[in-house]
Amino acid sequence: MTDERTYDLIIAGGGACGLFAARRAAQAGLTVLVLEKKERTGKKILITGNGRCNVSNLTVSADSYPAPMRKFTAPALDALSVKALMQEFSAIGVPLVSRGDCLYPRSGQAAAVADALVLAAREAGATFQTESAVRSVRRTGRGFRVTAGENSTSFFSKAVLLACGLKAAPRTGSDGSGIALAASLNLPVNPVLPALTPLLCDEPYAGVWAGVRTHACVTVCCGNERAQDTGEIQLTDFGISGIPVFQVSRLAVKALACHRRLRVHMDFLPEYDKADLLPIAGRLSTCADRNIVQLLQGMLPRKLVQTLARKLDISEKAHSGELGEKAVLAMLALAKDFPVHVTGYKDFSQAQVCQGGVAREAVDPQTMMAVNVPGLFLAGEILDVDGPCGGFNLHWAWASGNLAAKGAAHYVKGKKS
Ligand SMILES: Cc1cc2nc3c(=O)[nH]c(=O)nc-3n(C[C@H](O)[C@H](O)[C@H](O)COP(=O)(O)OP(=O)(O)OC[C@H]3O[C@@H](n4cnc5c(N)ncnc54)[C@H](O)[C@@H]3O)c2cc1C
Repeated sequence: MTDERTYDLIIAGGGACGLFAARRAAQAGLTVLVLEKKERTGKKILITGNGRCNVSNLTVSADSYPAPMRKFTAPALDALSVKALMQEFSAIGVPLVSRGDCLYPRSGQAAAVADALVLAAREAGATFQTESAVRSVRRTGRGFRVTAGENSTSFFSKAVLLACGLKAAPRTGSDGSGIALAASLNLPVNPVLPALTPLLCDEPYAGVWAGVRTHACVTVCCGNERAQDTGEIQLTDFGISGIPVFQVSRLAVKALACHRRLRVHMDFLPEYDKADLLPIAGRLSTCADRNIVQLLQGMLPRKLVQTLARKLDISEKAHSGELGEKAVLAMLALAKDFPVHVTGYKDFSQAQVCQGGVAREAVDPQTMMAVNVPGLFLAGEILDVDGPCGGFNLHWAWASGNLAAKGAAHYVKGKKS
């Protein structure tokens, strides 16, 4: 089958980036067709921010992203500041409110974001075709021939935007097929790995600590690189999770994938200095009739105290009168510097984003057009850009989609004149 029209722009992928770009490009006067693999657009948006969608962050700037990415991300972020984004969302009926620095839709519903983006893009004139996985993108004399869907229907366009994401949460549609499309057009691709993902640990007492949520600081060291974050950590039967673990997982995953030596430790008493521990141990051990769990349960979750005691071979039943100050201090010292043997990471199905993707060098950051393929644009997660938790990944999707749409409009109009 063939769709005989020639669109100005075909967008492969109706996720956060593709939807934002579709409205922008249609507003700029382009005829736009979005081809989305799944039965509906924006499936991943629905599960962001625990269903509330952390749309962006008040502090977002190029410095929010890892150092090697800053130069590349700056033009897109400059073209869509957080203030401009708030106005954009307000204009499509989704006012944003802040919780701390994080921005969410006023309704607290991620579905509102996904729906409003599609409605706004349709109102601007963009058309959509769902259940249409893009299978190939080929250059023709006048632009591109794109095949999609079960029947490999052919579509023609002057420009193409690849906004297919990578492999995080593949149930939402992002299965990495965009990478194959980019590679078929000779674009270089860096290895794709999970980021913002839980870590697997070889912890013999994980069964004891499972279910604990506690305030802690986690540090990952690999060679000269170090990542650290503090907040609510979840201790599970497979290892460690929670936002601070996600934030440091990028480095841990990279190190594990490259078989590099990795040191991970947790501080379950981050608000105390090491020097505070001795007087605390002295004070606690005067309560001679309490066992170790009763002594420490006001400072640390019970299951964590039990884990520490087992690791130090301290009887949970022994009273502090018998144990003495030294044992209490040893427990506190282990809580302060708890080594974790990280052996792996949860795969793409559990990851919030991926690291790696189409190499930044292959794309002009001023327009998001592929350097060696005129008319081909790339934006969003498919590019080798990823940020920390807190709205930074969606902001990149909006901002790069916005710039790609502008770039495509400039390219298509330039061809017309
Ligand atoms: C559980 C979870 C929670 C998250 N929470 C947040 C958050 O609160 N804040 C934040 O900033 N970030 C969050 N993220 C990350 C954020 O969702 C992504 O960074 C963002 O969605 C990337 O946008 P994208 O459009 O580039 O890719 P995607 O959202 O992955 O969209 C790609 C789209 O392309 C489609 N597609 C793929 N291949 C093809 C093909 N061959 N043909 C046609 N269509 C195709 C897919 O079906 C999909 O709809 C979260 C991610 C997850 C998994």
